[in-house]
Amino acid sequence: GLTHTAVMDWMTRFAATVRSVEPELTALDQKAGDGDFGANLVTGLDGVRRALDALAAGAGNGERDRRGPDAPLDAAARVFLDDVGGTSGPLFGLLFQELADALGMAADPPGTAALALGTAAGAAAIQRVGEAEVGDKTMVDALVPAARALASCEPTADPAHALHVAAVAAHRGARSTTDLRARRGRASYTGDHSRGVPDPGALAVALLFASAHAELT
Ligand code: ADP
Ligand code: MG
Ligand code: MG
Repeated sequence: GLTHTAVMDWMTRFAATVRSVEPELTALDQKAGDGDFGANLVTGLDGVRRALDALAAGAGNGERDRRGPDAPLDAAARVFLDDVGGTSGPLFGLLFQELADALGMAADPPGTAALALGTAAGAAAIQRVGEAEVGDKTMVDALVPAARALASCEPTADPAHALHVAAVAAHRGARSTTDLRARRGRASYTGDHSRGVPDPGALAVALLFASAHAELT
């Protein structure tokens, strides 16, 4: 299940995965955008690493149980909402915050139902703030299919399975952005230059879900 340790490992794996593909994420945002996406995400995840270390050492957000399954996601949310630049930083912060809130409210340990609720709420929050629809070539193109895939799982399904299903759906959504023209963020300023490469934010969402499943069994 989604224990504190499992969620810690999920965040740690996500950071390692993003670091390993930072050059590719940067290259995509150079072709269709201003080139800062990889750096924004890695800088954010470095901050998350420090926050997770502090959490493990006993620091916490006073309002939350620092040993709870939601604590690592809440720590990540605060880093991304407060400290990370680019359009993507605060938007990832909203996703982490909604996931943290859903896991925090669920029975212990949280499972697929909480993941589905948190992902749907994260997608809604990102769309409320960023005003992107599916097809605008943003992270929404990966997140909305992931939320749908999670909602279609049995609420009692193994969360490792549900996250794998979400990762596949998110990756398919990210691939579907390749031929689109960006209509949001800095990439929209590049016009037709954004066609021909997938949206890096959408790929990062797919990597987030793909980073989880192996750690949960
Ligand atoms: P910026 O475009 O400000 O340089 P980043 O490079 O940090 O921001 O992030 C770019 C990513 O942010 C894009 O790949 C896209 O997925 C996402 N994005 C940009 N604008 C929006 C938006 N309005 N709604 C949702 N996601 C967005
Ligand atoms: Mg950028
Ligand atoms: Mg920028």
